[in-house]
Amino acid sequence: MEERAMTDRKQTKTVSIGNRKIGGGNPILIQSMCNTKTEDAEATVSQILALEEAGCDIIRVAVPTMEAAGALKRLKQIHIPLVADIHFDYRLALAAIENGADKIRINPGNIGSEERVRAVVDKAKEYGIPIRVGVNSGSLEKELLEKYHGVTAEGIVESALMKVRMIEEMGYDNLVISIKSSDVLMCIKAHELIAEQTAYPLHVGITEAGTVRSGTIKSSVGLGIILHQGIGDTIRVSLTGDPVEEVMTAKQILKTLGLRKGGVEVVSCPTCGRTRIDLISLANRVEAMVTEFDHLDVKVAVMGCVVNGPGEAKEADLGVAGGIGEGLLFRKGEIIRKVPEESLLDALREELIKLG
Ligand code: SF4
Repeated sequence: MEERAMTDRKQTKTVSIGNRKIGGGNPILIQSMCNTKTEDAEATVSQILALEEAGCDIIRVAVPTMEAAGALKRLKQIHIPLVADIHFDYRLALAAIENGADKIRINPGNIGSEERVRAVVDKAKEYGIPIRVGVNSGSLEKELLEKYHGVTAEGIVESALMKVRMIEEMGYDNLVISIKSSDVLMCIKAHELIAEQTAYPLHVGITEAGTVRSGTIKSSVGLGIILHQGIGDTIRVSLTGDPVEEVMTAKQILKTLGLRKGGVEVVSCPTCGRTRIDLISLANRVEAMVTEFDHLDVKVAVMGCVVNGPGEAKEADLGVAGGIGEGLLFRKGEIIRKVPEESLLDALREELIKLG
């Protein structure tokens, strides 16, 4: 699939986070958040390295204590930008910046007085790091709840823009905005509204989306609609599960929309009464195996039988069509050979290795 032209996307300001850039037509970056205790630097680093391996571009960690802020220094052996997530205590933000955070995420609404927000802004300015201004539907101000008769997309947008204006008035515009709601339709509307009103890069996500299954569906629908309108510069899929799943899902969403190239796309049939090999297990194993070939840009078809198999396999760079206890292996529509069922995974892997 063609990567979508930059011009299809809303033009936003470029913001640098460590060694990466978001906004301004740069590729949409994938973020995730550690679920280890940040104070446990060893466990956190090992989770971040696994996330890097899975394709995570930017990682966020919770900084709920001074000990966690201190641990950031020890995390800096990772290779992707580190974002510190701060709530309530502005001193944690100051310490996180001093200890090497490449960006901080705050909700100015829960940091306290304007003076405290200013202290954080001044520190970010001194270190030249961006601030993500994050607003959730759950943290809307009383006035806005009254004005809009409850939580609405308009209220979320107004709340976020008010906070952005406050920081601009403090002389800082190195900002990224995130507005989140677990209500997918409200979230979509809020992004449509805010994209019309600001040029700051947008961090997009559906918050509290749910477990791996329901969260993947909600995030795919929500992020899919938002991104397809050209809105969004960095994304996070939130799942109650292993953050590696978040990254895999985010990658799949971007690839499906043609917003990220590369890797191996696996297409597989739903199986039916004609299937004579254990295709479900094979397809799952192929999907896991191909993650080591992210440097390729190819399609692999895993089909249950010769009815649709060869046809699909013709369009794919590599393909398998199941027979009875065996499979036909295709390369660009040409049969390479028959392979016993138990060797199909290895045979596909060998062919992928040959592709470079
Ligand atoms: Fe059934 Fe064959 Fe189609 Fe798979 S490819 S669903 S096995 S007919």
